[in-house]
Formats: sequence, C-alpha cells, structure tokens
Amino acid sequence: MASDDVSPIRKQYLEIKRQYPNAILFFRLGDFYETFDQDAEIAARELDIVLTSRNVAKGVRVPMAGIPHHAAENYLARLIERGFHVAICEQMGEQPVKGLFPRQVTRVVTPGTVTEPGLLPGDANNYLACIALEEAGEVGEHGRAGVAYVDITTGEFAATELSGEDIHLVLRAELVRLHPAEVLHPDGLYLRDELPGHFTGWPGWRFEPGRCQEELLQHFKAAALDGFGLRGMSLAMRAAGAILQYLSETQPAALKLLTGLSTYSLSEFMTLDAATRRNLELTETLRSGAVRGSLLGILDHTVTPMGKRLMRQWVSKPLLNVEQVQSRQDGVAFFFEDGLLRAEMRAALKPLGDLERLTNRVLGGSAQPRDLVAMRATLERLPGIRGLMPEEPGPLAVILKDFDLCEAELGLLERALADDPPATLQNVGVIRPGFSAELDGVVERSRHARDWIANLESVERERTGIKSLKVGYNKVFGYYIEVTRSNTGQVPDEYIRKQTLVNAERYITPEMKEYETLVLNAEERIREIEGRLFRQVCEQLAGSAHRLLDTARALAQFDVLMSLAEAAALGGYVRPEVIAEDVLEIREGRHAVVEQMLSGERFVPNDVIFEEGERVRIITGPNMSGKSTLIRQVALIVLLAQIGSFVPAGSARVGLVDRIFTRIGAQDEIHAGQSTFMVEMVETANILHHATPRSLLVLDEIGRGTSTYDGVSIAWAVVEYVHNHPRLRAKTLFATHYHELTQLADLLPGVRNYNVAVSEADGQVVFLHKIVPGGADRSYGIHVGQLAGLPRPVVQRASEILRQLEASSGKAVRVNPLAPRQLALFPETNPLLDELKSIDVNGLSPIEALNKLFEWQRKYLDQKGSGDAE
Ligand code: ATP
Repeated sequence: MASDDVSPIRKQYLEIKRQYPNAILFFRLGDFYETFDQDAEIAARELDIVLTSRNVAKGVRVPMAGIPHHAAENYLARLIERGFHVAICEQMGEQPVKGLFPRQVTRVVTPGTVTEPGLLPGDANNYLACIALEEAGEVGEHGRAGVAYVDITTGEFAATELSGEDIHLVLRAELVRLHPAEVLHPDGLYLRDELPGHFTGWPGWRFEPGRCQEELLQHFKAAALDGFGLRGMSLAMRAAGAILQYLSETQPAALKLLTGLSTYSLSEFMTLDAATRRNLELTETLRSGAVRGSLLGILDHTVTPMGKRLMRQWVSKPLLNVEQVQSRQDGVAFFFEDGLLRAEMRAALKPLGDLERLTNRVLGGSAQPRDLVAMRATLERLPGIRGLMPEEPGPLAVILKDFDLCEAELGLLERALADDPPATLQNVGVIRPGFSAELDGVVERSRHARDWIANLESVERERTGIKSLKVGYNKVFGYYIEVTRSNTGQVPDEYIRKQTLVNAERYITPEMKEYETLVLNAEERIREIEGRLFRQVCEQLAGSAHRLLDTARALAQFDVLMSLAEAAALGGYVRPEVIAEDVLEIREGRHAVVEQMLSGERFVPNDVIFEEGERVRIITGPNMSGKSTLIRQVALIVLLAQIGSFVPAGSARVGLVDRIFTRIGAQDEIHAGQSTFMVEMVETANILHHATPRSLLVLDEIGRGTSTYDGVSIAWAVVEYVHNHPRLRAKTLFATHYHELTQLADLLPGVRNYNVAVSEADGQVVFLHKIVPGGADRSYGIHVGQLAGLPRPVVQRASEILRQLEASSGKAVRVNPLAPRQLALFPETNPLLDELKSIDVNGLSPIEALNKLFEWQRKYLDQKGSGDAE
C-alpha cells in the first residue's frame, strides 16, 4: 500500500503505535477508544468485544475493536490483570488542525502504575518494584542487588541494597515481602524460579549508573545523592533511577508525587525468607491465598484504608529494636485498657475516606469532584476525633504531633465545593455559589436570560395585543416568535421575519437572540470556569499536601494500634515483655489462628520455656497431636511480640530474635524442576548457612521426604550441626516422627526431649495436645489413618506389618506376605460373614439365592478392590 493512499488518521495512528510496540494502543476517536490491527484482535479476544474493520486506504480494511471511553476503566482492569500494558492516546485540543485532531499518549497503564480507584486493591499498597543487578543478566549465587519500589497512589518511594551468599533467595524474600504488582528489571534477567509479580523487562542502558544518577538529581533538584542515604549504594540508586525513567514514560503525572526517597536496610527488620512468610501464613493462607485464616486476618480490625495498608506493612516487617517495640506496645496498651475510647475512636474513624490516596490524586492532578467531597467529609470529622483524645494522650502524644486538623484546607473545601456536586467535571454545579464572583455573574446572567425568554411570550402578547403569539424553539433557528397569518399586520417593526409557514410567520428579534446566546453558551462557559476554579483549589490543596499526608499517616497509626488492641481484647492476649537478652519464655501459649478455628473444642495452652543452655527442643508425639501447631505457635508469638502486638499467652518474655526460619514439610507448591525432597534440602541448607545464635528455627519433620534411614541420618546431623556450630546455636524447635532422635538428648547438653501427651484407655486414643518432658514412644499413625477412613483391611494389614517391623527392631526386615487369614473369603470380622450366618436358606427361592450370591460377590470384589487401590 503506497503511503500516499493511506488516510491521514491512519498515518497518525501508525506513527504513535510505532512508539509503543509493546502496549495495546487505546486510540481516542470521539467517544470511543479504538484499537487496530493485532491490538484489535487481542482486545476483541480478551475483552469479548466485537471485532470489526475500518477502511484505511482505498480498498484496504484493517481489524478494529472499540470501547466507549466512559467504560474504559472496566476494560483496562481486565487487560492489566492479564498482564498487558495499555497506552492511552487522547485527542488533544478543542479543534482539529487541518481536519485532524492532534493526538498524544498521555500515559501507559501497567500493573504497577494504575491509579484508577477501581483498579487498585484498597487494603494493600500497589507497588511498582525495580531490580538492578551488578551485571545485567543472571542473578548469581553470590552478589548484590538493588531494589527500589514506589506506590504512586501514596507517594511512597524507597530503595535498598541486598547482599548475601545466595542473592536470589534474599531477593525473593524481599519481593515476597513487598508483593509488588509489577517488577521492572533489565532485559535478559535470568531468575532461578518464579518470583511474585508481573515482570517487565527494560533495556539495560536504562539502568546505567550515570543516567540513573542524573535522573535522580534532576528529579529531586539536588546536587548530590548523599542526603538520600544512597552513598555507596549504587545498585539501589540504579533501581531508583530506572523507576523514575519508567514513570516518566508511563505515568509522567505521578512524578510530582515523589517528593522524597528513603533508603532502608533489611537489618532494621526481622528477616523472614519467602518460605517462612508462606509457612507461617502471615498475610495469606497456604491453601487458598486468602487473608482470612492468616495472621493478618486475625490482627486486622482496622477501619480505614490507610490503616489497612499500614497493618499489612507492620505484619510484614517485625522490628528489631526494643524501644520501638515498646513504644508500639504502649500505644496498644493505651487503647487496650480503655475499651470505651477504643470503641468511640473506631466508630469515628470508620467513615473516613482514604486521605492518603485522595491527597495523592490531588497532587497528581487526577482528582475529581467526588475526591474532594470525600476529602471534605474526612476533614470535617477530624475535630471530633481530636476531641475524643484524652487531655493526657500519654504514648499517643508523638503521633498526635503529626495529627493536624487541616482547618485551612477544610475551610477552602467548604467555601469552594458545592454541597452535593456531580461526580465529575463533565457536569456543572461543582463550585459553591459565592466562591467566585465571575462564576456567580455568569450563572446569574444565564438564569436571568432563561427567565427573560420564559416570560417573553406573555410580555409580547401584551405588548402587541396578539393573543395567539407563541414563543418556540427549534434546532435550526433557535428561539422564534410565531404569529398566525391573520395577525401579521400587528407585528412590531423590530421583528425580523425568518420563516414562512402555511398559516403563520416566524420572527426573531436582536434582543431575543442575545439572550438566546447567553442561555446556550452559559453551560459551556460555566463548565470552563468551574474547571479552572477546581484546578486552582487542587493546587492550593497540593501546597499543603505534607500536612494532609502527615495527618493521614497519624490516623493510620491510631487505626493500627486500635486494631491490635481490639485483637488483644477479643483473643485474650497479654502484653509480652520484649527484651534484648537471649530469652524465650512462653507460659500458657496458644496458636492465634488455630484457636479461632476450633469449633466447640478448647485450645490447650502450652508452656515453652527455654532453660539456660537449652538450644534444641525435640518434640515427638503421635500424628495429629499438635506438634506442628505448637512449634508454629511459638514462632507466631515471637513475631507478634516484635510487631508490637500483644500475644495469645498467659505471659511471655521474648528476647529479640533476628530471624525466624521455618522448614515445614508437605509443601502444597511444587517448585519448577525440583522434587519435594530437593526443595526441603535447599531450604534446610539455607537455614544452616544463615541462622545466627539469635535466630529462631522451626523445623517440622526434616528428612521426611526420603527413605527412613536417610531421613533419620539427615535429621540427626542437622540437629548436631545446629547444636554444635558456634555460629549457629540458634533456639530450635524440631518436631519429628523419628523417635531415634530422642537419643540426642543424652548425647548433647543443649538438647531436650518433649512429647505431646496422649491418653489411651480401652483401645481409645485421646489427643491431649499437652506438651510434657520426655520422648514419645509411638506414633499412632495407623490410628489416625483409621480415623481418616482408610478401608478396614488396610488398617488391619498395617497394624500387622508394624508388629513385624517392631519385632525386628530396626534391622532390615522382610515383611511377610499377606497372611492367609487376611486372604480368607470371609474373615471373622467381615460383614458378609454376618449376613451369611443370619440368612434363612430354606426361605429363599432359587432366584433369590442366585441374586444373593451375585450381591456377595460384588461386595467382596468392591472390598478387595478398595484395599488393592490403597
Ligand atoms: P502430624 O504429625 O500428623 O503432622 P501434628 O502433631 O503436627 O500432626 P497438628 O497438625 O499440629 O498435629 O495438629 C492437628 C490438629 O490438632 C490441629 O489441626 C488442631 O485442630 C488440633 N490441635 C493442635 N494443637 C491443639 C491444642 N493445643 N489444643 C487443641 N487442639 C489442638
């Protein structure tokens, strides 16, 4: 197709599309966003919309699919969810230039850069993260990585540098903590296995140090980056610089929001690797991925969106500083002790809008009238909230310092904004009368003109004496005066004849036309003035954004402290003593989540008190007795304590723990290319390499994924290593079925045996869930199998094999083939035998007897089949 033949609009489209080859281009045409060519095919398929075609040159049609612009948000959401990027190309200006509207891409929507409230998770941050590596390409075993992340809806922008022997694991842990919507990385990055988030590759030169530094300096109008704490952190700097470049291409309006960059170090928080976060179900459950049933689900009683986000951050980042923990505890205690204040404050906070995101929408220029209405409604409630605070706010004084009533901002919103404005600026009536003389003048004149026209008919009838005179309106002539032919003689001189009908003449007057112009243009003019005033109000508000944001964050902190107090009150938690010393003493501890899931049953509390010199606690006990629950509950109590929360226990003394490691069997998730046992060993290796004497290790059934002898040997060696290695000696809870390991307590001074008690009476096994000193002697695994509904022949056979194995006491054994008793057609306990005994043979007809025989045969085969299948 010769380019001359192509329509101008097609040329314009192709030119713009060339710049965004990797995004779906939403090309604004009037009230629609149209997509073309391959984009149209994708859009039609993904959005279930009609694929049509459009003529772009003589005889040439290309595929096209469009969506109405007012419904774009919904469609955008679906494309973003499926990992597409969408470039939004708008019509610029009021008038076409040489028959064609200028068009421009105003932003590229990607998962990490959405701002539409409908597309954002309300209860979590929407992070765009960026990884920078020492060398583009592979994430090596050793080395460093820079990570930066931004939430353009709240203005949070932070960067850090990671290092470690296995940088991949460290990186993975940080990404799991952040849970970004999108991760930007240099093209060609090789990652060992899947990391969370939608990955967007970008050319390596975007990550060059010089370019990134320049970008940051320019953005912050700074002469050096030292003030941001980036000294010596070139990878963090590169990640942050690349983020700025990405935003300036995708969402330039968001750059304004990034007023600061903070650097952080992972050493400020308890380190939790990805597996541990998952195993302990901190923010979502293993099974369903839902918040309900996770630790966050138990703690989160927040009532504001900003509180919800902060709660999630606190749960993800337990502290490592005693004073900081205690200061949070003081806040929780304050609200815990005053239940009435807590209830009143929660009720007062509940109706608040998302002040943090609202402020950022104002700052970013995307606020709509409904956002300012929400902001006004929120600010109006601040004095009431302040009023609830006692004279002596005690530990809350620090937070209250940042809690500003924002009276000037509220005053502005009250003066400027109508009581009940339309949701968007498309409609008039946004600005309150009295705010602007200019606007009021236009509104007044338009009202006057309307009244004048409305009265015109009666005025003119009286003036001319023509009773049948009518004022009408049509699209062609606008307003007119109609006089029947018989009365045209009485028409005044200034009437100008415009149209002749069969029985009447239509006239206009210059004065009437003036009023008509006023009426017809008024709405447009009012919209224009209101738009301008609205922007001015937003600019003024943007000037005090820091005050609004400080207040939003203070509210979030109140909300989270109250939420923890509420959880403590509902769950019967106590304030733990958090100290720097190497101590762990939990009395009457409970599992925060499991205790809530038990319906009707009482959760049995347990003590876990590490004695002086005790390092490894080996916990044996039957299946289902509560070993896993116990060791996880210890980890959760430590975690809760370091978050600043109260804990489910009678009392607790917790010495700060630098890391919690968990190795918990039976992963639901199968890692790509690795067997379950391999994953288990990789995780164990990671723990042995990184734990310190101040770590807490929670190991559940290490070695279970292989043959018994290999498993016992590995488990044994792991315990010895943890116990003996001077760099380790971490407090360890080791739950196992390998009773052989209990011998370690006799060999190593820091090892203690505990088991979970069971009562056995009349062949009935009852799990007491109580932990007592000493090792267990039996597993009761077969008993649990029976409870779970294994077919009876399997249970019987298993008991028999167990007896044989026990008799041979650990030597390699040959299990006897099935004994004849099991093979007998009618073993004594078989229901078929009972039936046979009770049947009255004489009372059966031959056909009935035959049917019985068939039935028994079927039952027998079923029974045998289900046994075989196991
Ligand atoms: P397995 O060896 O089969 O993995 P386990 O000993 O680790 O079993 P858990 O999974 O911890 O057992 O617990 C099994 C069930 O017992 C839990 O789901 C819970 O319902 C109940 N349970 C555990 N601990 C307690 C407790 N302290 N009080 C009451 N119920 C408990």
